[in-house]
Amino acid sequence: MTDCKFANDADVIAFARDHSGVFQAGANLGVEEIGDGNINFVYRVFADDGTSVIIKQALHYIRIIGEGWPLSQDRIRIEAEALMQEAEYCPDLVPRVYHFDANRSAIVMEDIGAHENLRHALIARADLPVLAEQLGRFTADTLFHTSDLYLDAHRKKALVARFINPDLCKITEDLFFLDPYCDHERNNVNPLLWGEAEALWHDAPLKLEVARLKYRFLTCAQALLHGDLHSGSVFVCTQGTKVIDPEFAYFGPIGFDVGSLLGNLLLNYAGQAQLPGTDAERAAYQAWLLQVIRDFWTTFAHRFAGLMAAETRDPSLNLPLYHEAFLAEVLADTIGYAGTEMIRRTLGLAHVVDLESIEDGQQRALAEGLVLRLGRSMIMQRERLGSIDALIALVREH
Ligand code: ADP
Ligand code: MG
Repeated sequence: MTDCKFANDADVIAFARDHSGVFQAGANLGVEEIGDGNINFVYRVFADDGTSVIIKQALHYIRIIGEGWPLSQDRIRIEAEALMQEAEYCPDLVPRVYHFDANRSAIVMEDIGAHENLRHALIARADLPVLAEQLGRFTADTLFHTSDLYLDAHRKKALVARFINPDLCKITEDLFFLDPYCDHERNNVNPLLWGEAEALWHDAPLKLEVARLKYRFLTCAQALLHGDLHSGSVFVCTQGTKVIDPEFAYFGPIGFDVGSLLGNLLLNYAGQAQLPGTDAERAAYQAWLLQVIRDFWTTFAHRFAGLMAAETRDPSLNLPLYHEAFLAEVLADTIGYAGTEMIRRTLGLAHVVDLESIEDGQQRALAEGLVLRLGRSMIMQRERLGSIDALIALVREH
């Protein structure tokens, strides 16, 4: 499997022709490499009539680093199976998988071409009227139906076994929960923020709470997570949303997925204060982002509560008081994991353009400082806040 790389364009085209079933016989096909991701190779194969498919291939190392950072190719099987699992409940919100080929370590899937990366759309202050509802539905429906609240015990454990994903989980364990809390060589810290970073590395109460969140990430097999649900994994147009790239999928705490999205919306919120535009434009978009956060959580929580009441078959779990307690715990996790996403995107290896595109270092440090302080407060207060409105009030206070 290690030498499965496509030899040339003709090789990619032949693979797409044989395994997608979407092209007319004899159609003239072209190919372009489109991957802007860091880890894998992504190609678009297209015909003159506009028909196209995407081929995603995982080699035994990380694309931008090379053989020096090996990574299990099992990740592409996990991605294909996670996409198909998500499609059972949200077929309109994920690209369709046409074929998975273990020998080639490649997926042939639907081209969602008309959609734009959510991160870029947020930076451009796009109006996305269905985003909050669709992200709320995606998280509620995929996470509920892969949890013990829905699956019978044997099916759940069989699925957990299929989604053991140690290499990709280790990346998260290190990049989210280890590096940003010490002076690690992988970190990338704005020199103007060095004092705040050093203070955070010695912040014992914060490190205690991050240890608790990390331990839950390691051990709490609540549901099949997407596992990498940042705004670069979400593609949008005014009419719809598509979620791609679930190669980090594994069974973990529900709040990690919900919190990753929430943290990315808040990263953009913090960046907006320093991005180009008038004060009125910035303030209006920040207000819209807070409304998206409220609607996203509310949709998620209402749908999840409805699913628990209607579809949880185990009577010992189908208790209204337990439903309330469960969602309160998910909210606390969501706020905490959002805080860790915000801190790791400011001090850790992988930054986000919502902040990096602020050219002036001083202005960027202002936005990054806001992210750090808000992220810390969210981690520390996650169990006390108790409602999405309390979180929004906390954001406004900062
Ligand atoms: P990686 O795993 O390397 O991060 P991604 O799955 O994020 O790769 O894909 C990299 C890029 O390729 C995406 O940002 C997107 O621009 C493009 N892409 C991936 N899947 C599709 C798809 N199904 N349709 C259209 N473009 C896609
Ligand atoms: Mg990606």
